Amino acid sequence: MTEIIDGNAVAESVRADVSEAVDELEAAGVTPRLATVLMSTDPASETYVSMKQRDCEEVGIATEDVELDSEAPAEDLYDTIDELNDDDAVDGILVQMPVPDHVDDGRVLRSIDPVKDVDGLHPENIGRLVAGETRYKPCTPHGIQKLLAAVDVDTEGKDAVVIGRSRLVGKPMANLFVQKAGGGNATTTVCHSRTADLAEKTRGADILVAAAGVPEMVDASMVSDGAVVVDVGINQVEADTEKGYELVGDVDFESVREKASAITPVPGGVGPMTRAMLLYNTVGAASRRSGVDVSLS
Ligand code: NDP
Repeated sequence: MTEIIDGNAVAESVRADVSEAVDELEAAGVTPRLATVLMSTDPASETYVSMKQRDCEEVGIATEDVELDSEAPAEDLYDTIDELNDDDAVDGILVQMPVPDHVDDGRVLRSIDPVKDVDGLHPENIGRLVAGETRYKPCTPHGIQKLLAAVDVDTEGKDAVVIGRSRLVGKPMANLFVQKAGGGNATTTVCHSRTADLAEKTRGADILVAAAGVPEMVDASMVSDGAVVVDVGINQVEADTEKGYELVGDVDFESVREKASAITPVPGGVGPMTRAMLLYNTVGAASRRSGVDVSLS
Protein backbone atom coordinates (compact mmCIF):
# COMPACT_ATOMS: atom_id res chain seq x y z
CA MET A 1 0.00 0.00 0.00
CA THR A 2 1.34 3.41 -0.96
CA GLU A 3 1.10 5.95 1.83
CA ILE A 4 -0.28 9.30 0.73
CA ILE A 5 1.51 11.73 3.02
CA ASP A 6 -1.02 14.13 4.47
CA GLY A 7 0.68 17.53 4.63
CA ASN A 8 -2.42 19.19 6.03
CA ALA A 9 -2.46 16.88 9.06
CA VAL A 10 1.26 17.24 9.77
CA ALA A 11 1.02 21.02 9.34
CA GLU A 12 -1.85 21.04 11.82
CA SER A 13 0.32 19.35 14.43
CA VAL A 14 3.15 21.86 13.79
CA ARG A 15 0.64 24.69 14.24
CA ALA A 16 -0.52 23.17 17.53
CA ASP A 17 3.10 23.09 18.79
CA VAL A 18 3.64 26.66 17.60
CA SER A 19 0.46 27.77 19.35
CA GLU A 20 1.70 26.32 22.64
CA ALA A 21 5.03 28.09 22.17
CA VAL A 22 3.17 31.35 21.55
CA ASP A 23 1.36 30.84 24.87
CA GLU A 24 4.70 30.33 26.61
CA LEU A 25 6.00 33.56 25.11
CA GLU A 26 2.82 35.44 26.00
CA ALA A 27 3.12 34.21 29.59
CA ALA A 28 6.54 35.88 29.66
CA GLY A 29 5.10 39.10 28.20
CA VAL A 30 6.31 38.54 24.63
CA THR A 31 4.00 38.72 21.60
CA PRO A 32 5.73 37.36 18.50
CA ARG A 33 5.26 39.60 15.49
CA LEU A 34 5.80 38.98 11.77
CA ALA A 35 6.04 41.84 9.27
CA THR A 36 5.14 40.93 5.71
CA VAL A 37 6.24 43.18 2.87
CA LEU A 38 4.51 43.00 -0.50
CA MET A 39 5.77 44.94 -3.51
CA SER A 40 3.78 43.33 -6.27
CA THR A 41 0.38 43.28 -7.89
CA ASP A 42 0.66 39.61 -8.76
CA PRO A 43 -2.57 37.97 -7.50
CA ALA A 44 -0.69 34.82 -6.40
CA SER A 45 1.73 36.89 -4.29
CA GLU A 46 -1.18 38.82 -2.78
CA THR A 47 -2.89 35.54 -1.92
CA TYR A 48 0.28 34.07 -0.38
CA VAL A 49 0.76 37.10 1.85
CA SER A 50 -2.83 37.13 3.05
CA MET A 51 -2.66 33.38 3.77
CA LYS A 52 0.52 33.87 5.78
CA GLN A 53 -1.13 36.63 7.80
CA ARG A 54 -4.19 34.51 8.45
CA ASP A 55 -2.00 31.59 9.54
CA CYS A 56 -0.23 33.91 12.01
CA GLU A 57 -3.47 35.20 13.46
CA GLU A 58 -4.72 31.65 14.01
CA VAL A 59 -1.79 30.78 16.26
CA GLY A 60 -1.58 34.15 18.04
CA ILE A 61 1.32 35.71 16.12
CA ALA A 62 0.77 39.44 15.53
CA THR A 63 1.25 40.71 12.00
CA GLU A 64 2.25 43.93 10.35
CA ASP A 65 1.21 44.29 6.74
CA VAL A 66 3.41 46.58 4.61
CA GLU A 67 2.42 47.12 1.00
CA LEU A 68 4.51 49.10 -1.44
CA ASP A 69 3.57 50.30 -4.90
CA SER A 70 5.15 47.88 -7.37
CA GLU A 71 6.46 50.87 -9.34
CA ALA A 72 7.93 52.67 -6.34
CA PRO A 73 11.73 53.16 -6.33
CA ALA A 74 13.75 50.20 -5.08
CA GLU A 75 15.08 52.44 -2.30
CA ASP A 76 11.59 52.49 -0.77
CA LEU A 77 11.81 48.76 -0.21
CA TYR A 78 15.37 48.88 1.16
CA ASP A 79 14.31 51.73 3.52
CA THR A 80 11.27 49.75 4.66
CA ILE A 81 13.48 46.79 5.51
CA ASP A 82 15.84 49.07 7.47
CA GLU A 83 12.90 50.43 9.46
CA LEU A 84 11.60 46.94 10.24
CA ASN A 85 15.11 45.84 11.23
CA ASP A 86 15.21 48.73 13.72
CA ASP A 87 11.70 48.14 15.05
CA ASP A 88 12.12 46.23 18.29
CA ALA A 89 8.50 45.02 18.21
CA VAL A 90 9.09 43.11 14.95
CA ASP A 91 10.57 39.60 15.32
CA GLY A 92 10.37 38.33 11.76
CA ILE A 93 10.48 40.00 8.34
CA LEU A 94 9.19 38.33 5.21
CA VAL A 95 9.55 40.05 1.85
CA GLN A 96 7.26 38.26 -0.61
CA MET A 97 9.18 37.15 -3.69
CA PRO A 98 9.41 37.81 -6.54
CA VAL A 99 10.04 41.54 -6.23
CA PRO A 100 9.77 43.75 -9.35
CA ASP A 101 12.63 43.59 -11.86
CA HIS A 102 14.00 47.00 -10.89
CA VAL A 103 14.66 45.75 -7.36
CA ASP A 104 17.81 43.76 -6.58
CA ASP A 105 16.43 40.65 -4.87
CA GLY A 106 19.88 39.65 -3.62
CA ARG A 107 20.18 43.01 -1.88
CA VAL A 108 16.71 42.55 -0.39
CA LEU A 109 17.70 39.21 1.15
CA ARG A 110 21.02 40.62 2.38
CA SER A 111 19.32 43.68 3.91
CA ILE A 112 17.12 41.75 6.32
CA ASP A 113 18.56 41.45 9.83
CA PRO A 114 19.69 37.79 9.88
CA VAL A 115 18.04 37.28 13.29
CA LYS A 116 14.70 38.42 11.80
CA ASP A 117 15.20 36.43 8.57
CA VAL A 118 12.45 33.88 9.15
CA ASP A 119 12.66 32.63 5.56
CA GLY A 120 16.24 31.61 6.31
CA LEU A 121 17.54 32.94 2.99
CA HIS A 122 20.06 35.56 4.17
CA PRO A 123 23.60 34.50 3.16
CA GLU A 124 24.57 34.39 6.84
CA ASN A 125 21.77 31.96 7.60
CA ILE A 126 22.52 29.85 4.54
CA GLY A 127 26.18 29.80 5.58
CA ARG A 128 25.23 28.73 9.09
CA LEU A 129 23.09 25.94 7.68
CA VAL A 130 25.93 24.67 5.50
CA ALA A 131 28.34 24.91 8.44
CA GLY A 132 26.01 22.90 10.66
CA GLU A 133 25.31 25.88 12.95
CA THR A 134 21.73 26.31 11.83
CA ARG A 135 19.72 29.33 12.92
CA TYR A 136 16.68 29.11 10.65
CA LYS A 137 16.01 26.31 8.23
CA PRO A 138 14.30 27.57 5.05
CA CYS A 139 10.60 26.76 5.33
CA THR A 140 10.04 24.35 2.43
CA PRO A 141 12.96 21.97 3.02
CA HIS A 142 12.39 22.11 6.77
CA GLY A 143 8.75 21.24 6.18
CA ILE A 144 9.84 18.28 4.05
CA GLN A 145 12.10 17.04 6.86
CA LYS A 146 9.12 17.26 9.23
CA LEU A 147 6.88 15.41 6.77
CA LEU A 148 9.38 12.57 6.38
CA ALA A 149 9.81 12.31 10.16
CA ALA A 150 6.04 12.29 10.63
CA VAL A 151 5.69 9.18 8.46
CA ASP A 152 8.75 7.53 10.02
CA VAL A 153 10.99 7.80 6.99
CA ASP A 154 14.52 7.59 8.35
CA THR A 155 16.90 9.45 6.06
CA GLU A 156 20.07 8.01 7.59
CA GLY A 157 22.09 5.96 5.13
CA LYS A 158 19.50 6.47 2.39
CA ASP A 159 20.19 7.71 -1.12
CA ALA A 160 18.39 11.02 -1.51
CA VAL A 161 18.03 12.71 -4.87
CA VAL A 162 16.92 16.33 -5.14
CA ILE A 163 15.80 17.70 -8.50
CA GLY A 164 16.45 21.45 -8.41
CA ARG A 165 19.25 23.63 -7.02
CA SER A 166 17.44 26.86 -6.17
CA ARG A 167 18.38 28.96 -3.18
CA LEU A 168 14.82 28.57 -1.93
CA VAL A 169 14.34 24.80 -2.15
CA GLY A 170 16.90 22.55 -3.85
CA LYS A 171 20.16 23.74 -2.28
CA PRO A 172 18.92 23.98 1.31
CA MET A 173 17.12 20.64 0.94
CA ALA A 174 20.33 18.95 -0.16
CA ASN A 175 22.22 20.60 2.69
CA LEU A 176 19.70 19.37 5.24
CA PHE A 177 19.90 15.84 3.84
CA VAL A 178 23.69 15.77 4.20
CA GLN A 179 23.80 17.28 7.68
CA LYS A 180 25.19 15.01 10.37
CA ALA A 181 21.96 15.30 12.31
CA GLY A 182 18.44 13.95 12.55
CA GLY A 183 16.67 14.19 9.21
CA GLY A 184 20.07 14.12 7.51
CA ASN A 185 22.88 11.58 7.09
CA ALA A 186 21.59 10.77 3.61
CA THR A 187 23.89 10.32 0.63
CA THR A 188 22.65 13.13 -1.55
CA THR A 189 22.63 13.84 -5.26
CA VAL A 190 21.54 17.22 -6.58
CA CYS A 191 20.15 17.30 -10.13
CA HIS A 192 19.36 20.31 -12.30
CA SER A 193 18.68 21.29 -15.88
CA ARG A 194 22.20 20.30 -17.01
CA THR A 195 22.14 16.88 -15.39
CA ALA A 196 22.95 14.10 -17.84
CA ASP A 197 20.51 11.19 -17.72
CA LEU A 198 18.26 12.47 -14.99
CA ALA A 199 16.16 9.30 -14.94
CA GLU A 200 19.21 7.19 -14.19
CA LYS A 201 19.92 9.40 -11.15
CA THR A 202 16.34 9.49 -9.91
CA ARG A 203 15.97 5.71 -10.20
CA GLY A 204 18.77 5.45 -7.65
CA ALA A 205 16.76 7.38 -5.07
CA ASP A 206 15.34 5.92 -1.88
CA ILE A 207 13.99 9.44 -1.28
CA LEU A 208 13.25 11.65 -4.27
CA VAL A 209 12.44 15.35 -3.88
CA ALA A 210 11.18 17.00 -7.07
CA ALA A 211 11.54 20.79 -7.08
CA ALA A 212 12.03 21.73 -10.73
CA GLY A 213 8.84 23.63 -11.50
CA VAL A 214 8.12 21.43 -14.53
CA PRO A 215 4.60 19.97 -14.59
CA GLU A 216 4.53 16.20 -14.00
CA MET A 217 8.08 15.70 -15.27
CA VAL A 218 8.74 12.75 -12.95
CA ASP A 219 6.94 9.68 -14.23
CA ALA A 220 6.92 6.08 -13.07
CA SER A 221 9.87 5.15 -15.30
CA MET A 222 12.05 7.54 -13.23
CA VAL A 223 11.20 6.03 -9.86
CA SER A 224 12.29 2.78 -8.22
CA ASP A 225 9.88 0.47 -6.46
CA GLY A 226 9.41 1.50 -2.86
CA ALA A 227 10.88 5.02 -3.16
CA VAL A 228 9.54 7.87 -1.07
CA VAL A 229 8.56 10.70 -3.41
CA VAL A 230 8.16 14.30 -2.29
CA ASP A 231 6.58 16.66 -4.81
CA VAL A 232 7.41 20.31 -4.21
CA GLY A 233 6.18 21.63 -7.56
CA ILE A 234 3.21 23.92 -7.84
CA ASN A 235 2.48 24.45 -11.53
CA GLN A 236 -0.51 26.11 -13.11
CA VAL A 237 -1.62 24.24 -16.22
CA GLU A 238 -4.55 24.91 -18.52
CA ALA A 239 -7.57 22.81 -17.66
CA ASP A 240 -11.26 22.58 -18.27
CA THR A 241 -12.16 24.06 -14.88
CA GLU A 242 -14.03 27.18 -13.77
CA LYS A 243 -10.74 29.08 -13.46
CA GLY A 244 -9.40 27.68 -16.73
CA TYR A 245 -6.44 26.05 -14.99
CA GLU A 246 -5.47 23.56 -12.33
CA LEU A 247 -2.44 23.11 -10.11
CA VAL A 248 -0.23 20.11 -10.64
CA GLY A 249 3.07 19.06 -9.13
CA ASP A 250 6.37 18.05 -10.70
CA VAL A 251 5.37 14.41 -10.30
CA ASP A 252 2.88 12.45 -12.37
CA PHE A 253 1.01 11.40 -9.25
CA GLU A 254 -1.16 8.65 -10.74
CA SER A 255 1.66 6.68 -12.34
CA VAL A 256 4.26 7.25 -9.62
CA ARG A 257 1.96 6.28 -6.76
CA GLU A 258 1.88 2.76 -8.22
CA LYS A 259 5.59 2.38 -7.46
CA ALA A 260 6.28 4.64 -4.50
CA SER A 261 6.01 3.47 -0.89
CA ALA A 262 4.94 6.98 0.10
CA ILE A 263 4.17 10.12 -1.88
CA THR A 264 3.03 13.68 -1.21
CA PRO A 265 0.01 14.95 -3.14
CA VAL A 266 -0.35 18.37 -4.77
CA PRO A 267 -2.13 20.17 -3.27
CA GLY A 268 -2.09 19.04 0.35
CA GLY A 269 1.51 17.85 0.65
CA VAL A 270 4.49 20.18 0.91
CA GLY A 271 2.55 23.45 0.52
CA PRO A 272 0.84 23.43 3.94
CA MET A 273 4.17 22.55 5.57
CA THR A 274 5.92 25.55 4.01
CA ARG A 275 3.27 27.78 5.58
CA ALA A 276 3.50 26.07 8.97
CA MET A 277 7.29 26.32 9.13
CA LEU A 278 7.12 30.08 8.66
CA LEU A 279 5.14 30.23 11.90
CA TYR A 280 7.70 27.94 13.52
CA ASN A 281 10.57 30.21 12.48
CA THR A 282 8.73 33.34 13.60
CA VAL A 283 8.21 31.93 17.07
CA GLY A 284 11.85 30.85 17.03
CA ALA A 285 12.83 34.44 16.19
CA ALA A 286 10.71 35.83 19.04
CA SER A 287 12.26 33.32 21.44
CA ARG A 288 15.78 34.11 20.25
CA ARG A 289 15.28 37.87 20.42
CA SER A 290 13.57 37.89 23.81
CA GLY A 291 15.70 35.21 25.45
CA VAL A 292 12.53 33.34 26.48
CA ASP A 293 12.94 29.62 25.83
CA VAL A 294 10.05 27.75 24.24
CA SER A 295 9.46 24.03 23.85
CA LEU A 296 9.49 23.72 20.08
CA SER A 297 10.99 20.53 18.67
P1 NDP B 1 13.44 27.53 -9.52
O1 NDP B 1 12.89 27.80 -10.88
O2 NDP B 1 14.16 28.60 -8.79
O3 NDP B 1 14.45 26.27 -9.62
C1 NDP B 1 14.12 25.16 -10.38
C2 NDP B 1 15.29 24.21 -10.38
O4 NDP B 1 14.92 23.06 -11.13
C3 NDP B 1 16.54 24.77 -11.02
O5 NDP B 1 17.67 24.40 -10.28
C4 NDP B 1 16.55 24.12 -12.41
O6 NDP B 1 17.86 23.87 -12.91
C5 NDP B 1 15.89 22.80 -12.14
N1 NDP B 1 15.21 22.30 -13.31
C6 NDP B 1 14.34 22.95 -14.13
N2 NDP B 1 13.95 22.16 -15.14
C7 NDP B 1 14.59 20.98 -14.97
C8 NDP B 1 14.60 19.77 -15.69
N3 NDP B 1 13.88 19.60 -16.80
N4 NDP B 1 15.37 18.78 -15.23
C9 NDP B 1 16.12 18.92 -14.12
N5 NDP B 1 16.15 20.05 -13.39
C10 NDP B 1 15.39 21.07 -13.80
O7 NDP B 1 12.23 26.96 -8.69
P2 NDP B 1 12.00 26.83 -7.09
O8 NDP B 1 13.06 25.97 -6.51
O9 NDP B 1 11.74 28.13 -6.50
O10 NDP B 1 10.62 26.03 -7.10
C11 NDP B 1 10.50 24.76 -7.72
C12 NDP B 1 9.03 24.37 -7.77
O11 NDP B 1 8.54 24.27 -6.42
C13 NDP B 1 8.11 25.38 -8.45
O12 NDP B 1 7.04 24.68 -9.05
C14 NDP B 1 7.57 26.21 -7.29
O13 NDP B 1 6.31 26.78 -7.59
C15 NDP B 1 7.45 25.16 -6.24
N6 NDP B 1 7.51 25.63 -4.87
C16 NDP B 1 6.62 25.07 -4.00
C17 NDP B 1 6.66 25.38 -2.68
C18 NDP B 1 5.72 24.70 -1.76
O14 NDP B 1 5.55 25.15 -0.65
N7 NDP B 1 5.11 23.59 -2.19
C19 NDP B 1 7.61 26.37 -2.14
C20 NDP B 1 8.54 26.86 -3.12
C21 NDP B 1 8.48 26.50 -4.45
P3 NDP B 1 18.89 25.06 -13.27
O15 NDP B 1 19.43 25.52 -11.94
O16 NDP B 1 19.92 24.37 -14.08
O17 NDP B 1 18.12 26.11 -13.99
